[in-house]
Amino acid sequence: MASVSNRTTAAQSRRAAIYARVSTDRQSVEGQIEFAREWAPKHGYTLTEIYADNARSGTIPFAEREAGRRLLIDLRAGRFDVVLVYKYDRLGRDREVGDIETRQAILDIERAGGQIIAMTQPIDASTIMGRFTRSVQIDIGTIERLNTLERSADTLATLVRRPGFFTGGTAPYGYRVEGQDRDARLVVDEEPIPGLDISPADVVRMIYHWLVAEGRSTVWIAAELNRRGIPTRALLAGRARPTAGIWRPGRVSTMVRNTVYKGVAVYGRRKSGRSPFPVPVTEREVPAIVDAETWEAAQEQLRRNKKRAKRNAKRQYLLSGLVKCGACGSNYTGLAYTTKDGQERRYYTCNNIHQRHNTGGERCTNPALSWQYEELIWRDIDAWLENPGPILEELAAQLNTDADDAGNIEADIERRRRQLAGQEKERERLLTAYRKGIIDDTDLERELAAMRRERAVLEEEIEALKRAQQRREERRAGLVTAAALLEELKARRREGLTFAVKRQVVEALVKEIVVQPDGTPDVTYRFAVINNRTELCGGTAGGTPRRSRRGRAARSRS
Ligand SMILES: [Zn+2]
Repeated sequence: MASVSNRTTAAQSRRAAIYARVSTDRQSVEGQIEFAREWAPKHGYTLTEIYADNARSGTIPFAEREAGRRLLIDLRAGRFDVVLVYKYDRLGRDREVGDIETRQAILDIERAGGQIIAMTQPIDASTIMGRFTRSVQIDIGTIERLNTLERSADTLATLVRRPGFFTGGTAPYGYRVEGQDRDARLVVDEEPIPGLDISPADVVRMIYHWLVAEGRSTVWIAAELNRRGIPTRALLAGRARPTAGIWRPGRVSTMVRNTVYKGVAVYGRRKSGRSPFPVPVTEREVPAIVDAETWEAAQEQLRRNKKRAKRNAKRQYLLSGLVKCGACGSNYTGLAYTTKDGQERRYYTCNNIHQRHNTGGERCTNPALSWQYEELIWRDIDAWLENPGPILEELAAQLNTDADDAGNIEADIERRRRQLAGQEKERERLLTAYRKGIIDDTDLERELAAMRRERAVLEEEIEALKRAQQRREERRAGLVTAAALLEELKARRREGLTFAVKRQVVEALVKEIVVQPDGTPDVTYRFAVINNRTELCGGTAGGTPRRSRRGRAARSRS
């Protein structure tokens, strides 16, 4: 029985182990171990083992902790029979209120035949009275810990009620922190941003103005801030992660919703992970950047924008993924915004126009592509859908040519493989000749080097042919898709096409659209018959059926 072994006195049980644990990573177990080293000999124990668990272990039961588990195993093996702890709560869980785990750990140790001694809470647990005292001690420990947590929550709440108090971290955009620690205050930042004639506070005012007076969307505002080269908060704070320098719609709306700009900073959460006592939600007064009416109007505008965004959720871009920048080669992305009078405008813009602050790289200034070109390009395509015969004929021709070519490539690859095999035999013959003394070192080396060069060329050619084969396969798959699509569309065109079908057609027919520096698109179709069309391509007749030619689609119509 465990209680029997517990009855042995401290003087008889000489071998002791220390179990140490810290509550946070900032603490060290060394203090507890040092304490045990001094305490043990003075009380008649020899410290034989040290067990230490890290701070994270405070969330799991004693018997499941790395060191806790080992301690129980060694204890059962009889390597010691006394377990020293600095305080009983080292055995329990840090955020636990009832200290059930502490009691469970004591039970585990006693069941394994050990005696537990808290060095700073001396109790003789071999008597009923002693056990009762220990239980009370553990409860008192709990109450003390909880009191500390409550006190710190109170202190924070009191502190944050002081006007202008800043709780730390980076100041919101448009503010800076003056003073330190308890004297830290938020003040409006009216210092001009280096290189610009406006201050961070002006930027905040501008954002509210665009939203409230001009009814802009956060997408538009973010684009405008990027266009004007206005640094983000992260950049102002000197943090320069590559993506930190770009304004995004989400950042803008988070900013607009912050009540700090109307002079009300909110601090505190209803529930804190660490403390069972919530820090009360406290409002404190700080200098405002916009008046309360403007702030409210901005929230209303955000709600309106959100509703509209929901309506427009199905907005899709017919040309997405196909438009490329004629200046820098980046892709263009579709964007939308709403004008002052509530009209929606769409356009495609180079992905590279926002990267001015990114890594110091140049941003692209190639103009946006007006979304009206969507309509013009679609009209072009639609005209062909009415009579897809020529495209289908070209398709059939392309597929036939491809089939011939595919056979040729296969034969080319086979021929080179045979050459490689032949070379292997040639090499054998050479080596035999050398061994028989027919040729000398120099001849052999020269011949072998020539063979190595030839071999490298052949291998390279085979790889290139294989790549060509692959491309042909992909193209063939695309052509078959296009053919099937066109056949189908002949019948369905009059019913009106959904966006999804239109998009499929565009993908099947359009190879790429390159936006020129004057803002007009160069459309390259996958089919020469379209590229060579009389009206739009400027008379580049005579293109081979297998190679698309670039046509100036839509330009002449704009
Ligand atoms: Zn570009």
